[in-house]
Amino acid sequence: MSYDITKIRNNFPVLHRKVYDKPLIYFDSAASSQKPVQVLMAEEKLHNDYYGNIHRGAHFMADKATEDFENIRVQVRNFINATHREEIIFTKGATESINLVAFSFCEAFLNEGDEIIVSEMEHHANIVPWQMAAIRKKARIVKLPFNDSGILEIEKLPHLITPKTKLIAVAHVSNVLGTINPVNEIISIAHQKNVPVLVDGAQAVPHLKVNIQEMDADFYVFSAHKMYGPNGVGVLYGKKSWLEQMPPYQGGGEMISEVSFEGTTFNELPYKFETGTPNITGVIAFGAAISFLNETGLTEIAGWEHSLLEYATEKLKTISSLRIYGEAAEKSGVISFNIEGIHPYDLGMLLDKMGIAARTGHLCADTVMAHFGIDGCVRISFGMYNTMEEIDIFIAALHKIILMF
Ligand code: PLP
Repeated sequence: MSYDITKIRNNFPVLHRKVYDKPLIYFDSAASSQKPVQVLMAEEKLHNDYYGNIHRGAHFMADKATEDFENIRVQVRNFINATHREEIIFTKGATESINLVAFSFCEAFLNEGDEIIVSEMEHHANIVPWQMAAIRKKARIVKLPFNDSGILEIEKLPHLITPKTKLIAVAHVSNVLGTINPVNEIISIAHQKNVPVLVDGAQAVPHLKVNIQEMDADFYVFSAHKMYGPNGVGVLYGKKSWLEQMPPYQGGGEMISEVSFEGTTFNELPYKFETGTPNITGVIAFGAAISFLNETGLTEIAGWEHSLLEYATEKLKTISSLRIYGEAAEKSGVISFNIEGIHPYDLGMLLDKMGIAARTGHLCADTVMAHFGIDGCVRISFGMYNTMEEIDIFIAALHKIILMF
């Protein structure tokens, strides 16, 4: 199947706008991707047609909204090839999914003196919740380091795992380095020692085909807004056997079975972990985003984004004052860099004035910044809709900025 970039771009009305009178070049999909009309229309259809609160209404509107909401749960299960629909918990994002596990898993399984192994290349969302749990339980965080090329030193992992290790938390794809981590291998090492693994898939799911059963992750988290879907929706995949043993994260709403002043019994999975009125609109629009990803084809998207990555990397390497952070062979469409003598904020601001949306700063990854001894950098990240021509304009913009300095 050939990749029809014009057709793909035409699904995203926002890509045709101008910024400061320049055509928008959106190189910040790793932060949040743009939304196709299919997603916008799904939201509109719900509200024009059949909106109602789910799971609790005894009327047509509530039933229809509930049916669609639950169908999306099955769609998500199929998308990542999970075994059971009950293993798919809707949250408000990857961050909330990790916080849920960090609370509920650690409440049940983490004790004083225990250890959680966290990789050095994690987003803050996959560090801070573990630190909070460790403080609560008087446990300890152990670092799995990466080398200067941005590759995890997984040969160290077997030695870091001790009888006190209760969980390993690792990104599938780093949001700064772009490294695609060998999660299958990490999980296999961990499982040989009966240690469960949480994989942060926020930067992987929009770009790679994920097969949870093959990967055998115990927990896998991601956010809809990085997958061309709405913000405010996320997924926690958890193995049923773990989720069943974990206490609820929050109380109220659909998570109860019976409530009295003497006590409460909890609902079955997945509802035990879903409190209050969920993001009904968001979840239903998320279904449209997944259909859109499936129709475009993840293999085709991955191939296209890889060509963009190779093309941009080759061009950037011709700039002698530029340093790229993250040079793993297995990399997704993320390039973080600095140019000697130019502050990343200045660079980001000047790119913005030329219509190019890039990310600047610590990228919510202070431990990665610390590894390289920097305060921040600039990141460009690609989505299915970016083009080689946009990269050419970006490279020309960099040359112009370097001349200005
Ligand atoms: N994990 C990674 C690797 C990310 O890149 C991000 C967001 O950039 C998150 C977690 C947090 O995602 P969210 O803000 O959607 O909860």
